[in-house]
Amino acid sequence: MWNHNPLTAGIVTRPQGVVPTDLLDQMPDWRTAMRNAIRDARDLCGRLRLPESVASDAEEGTGDFPVFVPLELLGRIRPADPQDPVLLQVLPRSAERHAPVDVFSADPVGDRSAEVVAGSGMLKKYHGRALWISTGTCPVHCRYCFRRHFDYQQNQASPEVWDGICQWLARNKDIEELILSGGDPLTWSDQRLEALIHQLEQRVPNLRRLRVHSRMPVMIPQRVTSKLVECLKPSRLTSIMVIHSNHPQELDEAVIQAIKRLTGCGIPVLNQAVLLKGVNDSLEALEELSRCLVQMGVMPYYLHQLDRVLGAAHFEVSEQAGREIIGQLRARLPGYAVPRYVREAAGSPAKIPLE
Ligand SMILES: *Cc1c(COP(=O)(O)O)cnc(C)c1O
Ligand code: SF4
Repeated sequence: MWNHNPLTAGIVTRPQGVVPTDLLDQMPDWRTAMRNAIRDARDLCGRLRLPESVASDAEEGTGDFPVFVPLELLGRIRPADPQDPVLLQVLPRSAERHAPVDVFSADPVGDRSAEVVAGSGMLKKYHGRALWISTGTCPVHCRYCFRRHFDYQQNQASPEVWDGICQWLARNKDIEELILSGGDPLTWSDQRLEALIHQLEQRVPNLRRLRVHSRMPVMIPQRVTSKLVECLKPSRLTSIMVIHSNHPQELDEAVIQAIKRLTGCGIPVLNQAVLLKGVNDSLEALEELSRCLVQMGVMPYYLHQLDRVLGAAHFEVSEQAGREIIGQLRARLPGYAVPRYVREAAGSPAKIPLE
């Protein structure tokens, strides 16, 4: 069984047999899952019985952004299918090395110029919100990632850095929301997150909301531990989780259970997706994605136009094609199930709507 998603009957096969209701507790703990992740293109291709031509192309494409695929995701990739929409997100291709250098750059969204506390990864790009690139570690390496060239080495959250960040937040009283981004902030331990939230609550009176941007609930769903949910429960700070799923095939029973843990405790969950050629640039894929998300209690938030990062040109879908798909979605789904189709622009205080 390579997929056991009960929500996506239209696109993928339904599961056979009974699915346990406490699946997350039966999975290896999330740190073990991180350790066991596949880190080699040949290994990935071998396990999926992909042809030698695909394996050698992947090896050539890897460059300095290594493969990282958790085994939890591997089970959601159709074996022996080089066009599988989940595989394409994580499989290096030699096309990554032949990027048009003039328009595709290493820092397409202007992150490097928005840092407010030197060496901290804390960025001020949006009104009332601060964005903290809290770590460079991820539960998966997405080949289209716009932060794939970001130098994360310096963003180690030492006590000094953390202190500087709290001071800066408290000084800038217009900041009412802190966005934890990365990398993936849920690669931090529950203890560390708990300490962080506690400090924010104590030291930054102007802060009202904490937003967590994470691919963990989709990639390694057992990361949504009871302790994590406890930390994020509404308190003085309201927490909002923004997950990242691009295709309904990513949403299996374990993901559903992870999301239920969050929504069951009153934590709103939103999804952002990136429009990716060969992955989700079709009405069928995006319609099914929205249906599955809504069914799980997740609101489709953004559909991002690809950021023009070096190595990702082969994923680009034209804005015209994107607009057409969104128009078709709008004609078929309730308004709340249609994500906003947007583009990020360096130096702009908000996303640019593309529709
Ligand atoms: C756009 C964006 C944000 C914040 O924008 P909102 O419009 O407030 O959601 C934060 N992080 C990333 C990576 C973004 O692209
Ligand atoms: S999980 Fe997010 S930050 Fe990490 S590689 Fe994927 S898109 Fe990039």
